[in-house]
Amino acid sequence: AIRSMASSAPSTMPGAFNAKKNANGNYVVTLIPGDGIGPEISESVVKIYKAAGVPIEWEPVSVTPVIKNGKTAIPDEALHSIKKNTVALKGPLATPIGKGHVSLNLTLRRTFNLYANVRPCKSVVGFKTPYDNVDTVLIRENTEGEYSGIEHEVVDGVVQSIKLITKDASDRCARYAFHYAKDTGRNRVTAVHKANIMKLSDGLFLSSCQEVAREFPEVKFDDLLLDRACLQIVQDPSVFADTVMVMPNLYGDILSDMSAGLIGGLGLTPSGNIGRDASIFEAVHGTAPDIAGQDKANPSALLFSSVQMLRHMSLNSFADQIERATLKVIADGKHITGDLGGKSTNTQFTDAIISEL
Ligand code: NAD
Repeated sequence: AIRSMASSAPSTMPGAFNAKKNANGNYVVTLIPGDGIGPEISESVVKIYKAAGVPIEWEPVSVTPVIKNGKTAIPDEALHSIKKNTVALKGPLATPIGKGHVSLNLTLRRTFNLYANVRPCKSVVGFKTPYDNVDTVLIRENTEGEYSGIEHEVVDGVVQSIKLITKDASDRCARYAFHYAKDTGRNRVTAVHKANIMKLSDGLFLSSCQEVAREFPEVKFDDLLLDRACLQIVQDPSVFADTVMVMPNLYGDILSDMSAGLIGGLGLTPSGNIGRDASIFEAVHGTAPDIAGQDKANPSALLFSSVQMLRHMSLNSFADQIERATLKVIADGKHITGDLGGKSTNTQFTDAIISEL
């Protein structure tokens, strides 16, 4: 199985990229290097893009939190840059722990209304995993569900946490899934839910998907209970190779990591956060503080996220070129990083990709 994270986003798609080239004939893209290994893996992407001649000028911004009205916030410069460019590539951010600190990832999600989290997982040749035929695409509703943050203590020892599902958010997420299925030739959408138990909330999500399905008569639609989906994906992931799974926030969080596990973990999995006002592409992994600053990090997940970004921008030939070179280096196995079972540094891995472009 050769990985190809088809994720083109033509202009008909909600949240599609529609920025214009600048006077130099390049697109300007916001780059958030991030924390921990973030700057190292971002540097690797920048180097590979330069060598491939991708018509992108990076606008690096820091998102080191600032205090605004007593709360952690993202610096204005970063917000303006993303708003202006409408597309960003983001390294991992360390989430500050403690009261008064808001997760910066969550803030970005809310600020730019990043409503759909797109996670493709495809087996990578050269990296042995229990299956070599994984090819899943999962779209997670990204703004509500159990993540709405509405929790309270009823009485001592009893807490209540509200799961919020709205028709608007369910509709736009479902609509993106159908557009995605149509544009990438998967031609089927599967809604994953627990509407048998959560009759109202998941019931609304499911009925929204069913309604949106009528707008896309050429795309097949079916639905599956979350527990069945978990069982099937670990028994035979190929069942999902022709469909786009779409689901509420929490289910997507968990099931997407399960898919990532099937292709060898977070070091290889990309993601895109599609929004109304901007789209942000990022690796699924975190800042890897244990290996930061040692030139040991694997840049593949950020690189594959950037490939997803290139397809979102309709720069498909560059996406194919970079993806092919990266997969070849991984399949060869001579210049791979420690997490993939090799001995090479990030720099050596990056240079090997450049020589395959
Ligand atoms: P992590 O993903 O940073 O690390 C888990 C393990 O995977 C570590 O052993 C690490 O060395 C390894 N690893 C991760 N990425 C790798 C790569 N590219 N190459 C090689 N090895 C890699 O998870 P964690 O330790 O739970 O989190 C660390 C920090 O990252 C926390 O502050 C957390 O909040 C943050 N985080 C941020 C994001 C994000 O910005 N999207 C996502 C997850 C975690």
